[in-house]
Amino acid sequence: MDTIHLSPRLEAVLQFISKSSCLADIGSDHAHLPCRAIQDGRAAKAIAGEVRSEPLHQSTSNIAALGFQKYIDVRLGDGLDVIREPGEADTIVIAGMGGELITDILERGKEKIGKETVLILQPNIREARVRNWLNENGWTIVNETIVDESPHIYEIIKARQETAVRKLSELELKMGPILSSRKESVFLKKWKKREQRLIGILQALSQAEQTAELARKKKESERELHLIRMCLSEN
Ligand code: SAM
Repeated sequence: MDTIHLSPRLEAVLQFISKSSCLADIGSDHAHLPCRAIQDGRAAKAIAGEVRSEPLHQSTSNIAALGFQKYIDVRLGDGLDVIREPGEADTIVIAGMGGELITDILERGKEKIGKETVLILQPNIREARVRNWLNENGWTIVNETIVDESPHIYEIIKARQETAVRKLSELELKMGPILSSRKESVFLKKWKKREQRLIGILQALSQAEQTAELARKKKESERELHLIRMCLSEN
């Protein structure tokens, strides 16, 4: 059987799955991720959860074409509703959505997450929102990675529940506690680009007529620029 090809982003998500007895991929779309996890032996079985019926049909035929019906259960439903009992999935992946939708799914489905469950989250935007939710809900970020799929750069966050959770700083919430300490080249590329963008925004704001809304935006952009520069200047 040919290896199922994943984009670099999904390949990085896959690499974060370690020996799962039941993987739940929420918003699975085509179900390529659970298929590869089964194929690689990273998951013994999987749930492909999807809220729309159209991709669900596509997943079902993809899974059948591989002969994986006995390993992957395709379930139609909203977020973590597809998980039947707390802890049914020892690994939950939510990838390819905005940070707000990811945190909304987690918040509404909290009771379906087991004590030992590992979360692997890949927000397309608003990563800070996801980290903030994790930090406020007893989760520790145990790994992070960053992937360049030009023009997009994606961050992937792995977390576990712990009794004592260290409060993350504003900088860590924004840039990632692990990513900001490793400072890999893709990370530097992302934040140098954002730094330039903020400089442009602040220049434009300084030339515009001042309103309360613009003053708020200016303060916010200055704060973000300060955090980025603080991080980029640290060794
Ligand atoms: N996870 C795949 C990936 O990373 O390539 C697919 C990402 S796709 C952009 C987002 C998928 O999430 C869509 O198929 C969408 O229908 C599904 N989705 C959106 N909201 C959802 C929800 N509340 N519950 C389950 N699936 C959802």
